[in-house]
Amino acid sequence: MKRDVVIIGGGIAGLCTAYYLQKSGRKVTIIDEADITNSTSFGNAGLLSAFDKSPLSCPGVVSNTLKLMLKGQSPAIIHPTLDFKIYKWLVNFIKNSNEKRTKKTMMLFEKYGEITLNLYEKMIKEDNLDFDYHRDGMLSVFTEDKSYKERLKKYNYTDDERFKIFKKDELKEYLPSADIKKIKGAILFKKNARFDSGRVMLELKKHLIDAGVEFILNEKIDSMRIENNEVKHIISSKSVFYEAEHFIMSTGYKTALAGKYCNKDLMMTPAKGYSITFEMPKEFIPKVSTIFNDLFIVMTPRRDNVRFTSKLEIGSDDPAIIEKQIDSIKKNFFEYNQTFEMNNEVYWSGFRPLTPNDIPLIGRDEDVNNLTYCMGLGWLGMTFGPALGSIVSDLVVNDKKNAQSDDILMFSGFYQ
Ligand SMILES: Cc1cc2nc3c(=O)[nH]c(=O)nc-3n(C[C@H](O)[C@H](O)[C@H](O)COP(=O)(O)OP(=O)(O)OC[C@H]3O[C@@H](n4cnc5c(N)ncnc54)[C@H](O)[C@@H]3O)c2cc1C
Repeated sequence: MKRDVVIIGGGIAGLCTAYYLQKSGRKVTIIDEADITNSTSFGNAGLLSAFDKSPLSCPGVVSNTLKLMLKGQSPAIIHPTLDFKIYKWLVNFIKNSNEKRTKKTMMLFEKYGEITLNLYEKMIKEDNLDFDYHRDGMLSVFTEDKSYKERLKKYNYTDDERFKIFKKDELKEYLPSADIKKIKGAILFKKNARFDSGRVMLELKKHLIDAGVEFILNEKIDSMRIENNEVKHIISSKSVFYEAEHFIMSTGYKTALAGKYCNKDLMMTPAKGYSITFEMPKEFIPKVSTIFNDLFIVMTPRRDNVRFTSKLEIGSDDPAIIEKQIDSIKKNFFEYNQTFEMNNEVYWSGFRPLTPNDIPLIGRDEDVNNLTYCMGLGWLGMTFGPALGSIVSDLVVNDKKNAQSDDILMFSGFYQ
């Protein structure tokens, strides 16, 4: 049986692409090696933070991180590895950490962030989806005087519609857990939003099933057969051959299929992060999602609990939960916050599919006619998921070449 569109990988990239394909009348199948309950798209912070936030590859990031690494305080770790691709990625990352690139990336983030928020809001309204979504801003908290002053000097935070700079006594209302004496400053970025990412994934999955999308779970795609510039079929771990008119690859940080069978060297590296989800005493729950800038810790309030996320490890794809990392997140947090009991903690690790310039890898394969990528969503995949899904769906539905899509030319890492 030949299917219409088969999507390999059901993270936010795969589900959002399926959503728009299905809306355009295509018959969609999603194949995932797991059961779609624990991918990177589930355990992340759930910040929709495209506004007024620098990309990872921004000026100063390399020197600052190296300084912190030497002091043993860096949230980022680069594991020694023999994988040459990672060093190539790092060189590219350093090249992109400049003012010009940062300015362009921030403008792209803003453009596609606005599109995404509108699309999420449309999904919630039209399809009655419950994402625990709040467009109530993101609080950026500084624990180091130097970084706070540098930030205020660098950016102009005078626009009341976008920013609020907190006085110490005002902060308590937003961040009741804070040890106010130790906090050097805080800025509310009013345009950003947040949601519960796991809830988003489950709601989307349920909606897609109800709309007739086929899910084939716990079945890994092991190989692909390319013939006459077409994917003829893909083969799963259960030795099933799947044929389709079109294939979408959205396998997150995993690039083996694209590399081995499509000769596509995707410039991407897995960057491991952790989350701790727990019940917090009510009186300490923050009002909005909060980033502790100098600690690289995010705290997101959700309907039933609160989630910490932190750490960025490059050079390993081992998903093991390392106790030392969990302890270090807690230790760093409690150094600047009052102590309280964390109940029913759930630890998680996942991998950001990180590109060296924070721009996703989306678009059609230039040699394989019926193959399109929705990959490299990086550290902001939830922030851009619907925008990217709709761009990719538009290529397939309208049989467009990359050059015919302004969005691909602007926001695909294949062309920058
Ligand atoms: C700690 C942390 C915090 C983060 N916080 C935020 C945040 O606040 N805001 C934000 O916007 N983003 C955040 N991110 C980034 C975001 O989570 C990712 O960009 C996004 O989830 C990537 O989605 P994806 O669909 O590309 O990949 P994934 O979610 O990894 O999905 C890929 C899917 O493909 C499947 N798959 C892979 N290979 C195969 C195969 N061969 N066969 C079949 N199936 C396969 C996998 O099982 C998986 O389900 C965070 C990430 C981390 C790690």
